[in-house]
Amino acid sequence: MTKFNTLLVRGGKPDDNHTGAVNVPIYNSSTYRYPKLGSDVRWDYERSGNPTRDNVENVCAELENGDRGFAFSSGMAAIHAALSLFKPGDHIIIGDNIYGGTFRLVNDFLRPRGIKFSEVDTQNIQALEEAFTPETKAVYFETVTNPLLKVSSVRQISKLAHEHAAMVIVDNTFLTPYLQKPLDLGADLVLHSATKYLGGHSDMTAGIIVTRTKELSDKVYALQNSIGAILAPQEANLLRRGIQTLNLRMDRHISNTKKIIKYLERSDKVGRVYYPTVDKNSIDYAIIKDETKGAGGVLSFELKDGLDAAKFVNSLQLIILAVSLGAAESLVEVPAFMSHFEIPKPDRLAMGIKDELIRLSVGLEDADDLIADLDQAFKKI
Ligand SMILES: *Cc1c(COP(=O)(O)O)cnc(C)c1O
Repeated sequence: MTKFNTLLVRGGKPDDNHTGAVNVPIYNSSTYRYPKLGSDVRWDYERSGNPTRDNVENVCAELENGDRGFAFSSGMAAIHAALSLFKPGDHIIIGDNIYGGTFRLVNDFLRPRGIKFSEVDTQNIQALEEAFTPETKAVYFETVTNPLLKVSSVRQISKLAHEHAAMVIVDNTFLTPYLQKPLDLGADLVLHSATKYLGGHSDMTAGIIVTRTKELSDKVYALQNSIGAILAPQEANLLRRGIQTLNLRMDRHISNTKKIIKYLERSDKVGRVYYPTVDKNSIDYAIIKDETKGAGGVLSFELKDGLDAAKFVNSLQLIILAVSLGAAESLVEVPAFMSHFEIPKPDRLAMGIKDELIRLSVGLEDADDLIADLDQAFKKI
């Protein structure tokens, strides 16, 4: 068996490259010649299949230990395709703290079309158990939530969902297959915003789905081809390139994150620090130890009461004020005013997202420089 790091660099190569090029060509062809009428051709039209996209889809399937991979034009396009597996009357249990764009898709698009959803804290297995109905067809959640980094158990949720004949969909954007392989833990479908860590360089948007069984692969392929939100070949090539260094980047993201947490825990300007391994007695820590190889490169922290989050982020010079995460460069945002602004304030507070909460996607810079930047900004508030 080829090991994970070798797969990252060498996985999924197609066999139709006769030039000796070590990288998969970018096939800029929307259509393909038939040698003669009725020929059985491997490629016919780009939406249905493209060798450059096929390569990155295969790499992702190998990395997630799945049957087949599918690449989409954004994470939301992948999520839309996955949730298009369901029909009016079906009931889906979703994590109560999933990505905002996913909530928007659920509330503004899927609910009006007759699919039913219940929001549940998927860390609470008791609450999850109570949410199943005879119509429940799936449980959809993120292993690590944003921005409070609460961890749910893929293993426990998969066991429970399968007892209820429901499938399990995991958004693995935050951990990536380098840190967790949800399909190995029992999930049926894993998806990504590859815009984040898999791409890793803030230069494109992409989404990935990997399926566990052939039966599910066939359904997702039909949806990808019918809905049509495919990843373009140029982007597929960028994603291929990003994935080759996922291991090195993730190791650096994590080591920088640990150094920054140590610094934040000593700061008199900082209240609580949110990261799954901060509290060794927490359920988050137990799941991270049991089901992953690490908790990733995103952390959040609260400024002490009365300190001004706007002034703090506006004072940062190196760390960039921007949404998104998983990039080479460190990005900071204030969820109450940026990523989670659409949630009404009382609901936001009930979720634990205060105005003083700051989310940091730790990049690949020198940790000392990042800490120096945080330090000079703390001195200004
Ligand atoms: C960004 C993100 C998405 C959406 O992906 P896009 O590529 O922006 O469409 C979905 N889930 C999570 C966890 C994300 O962070």
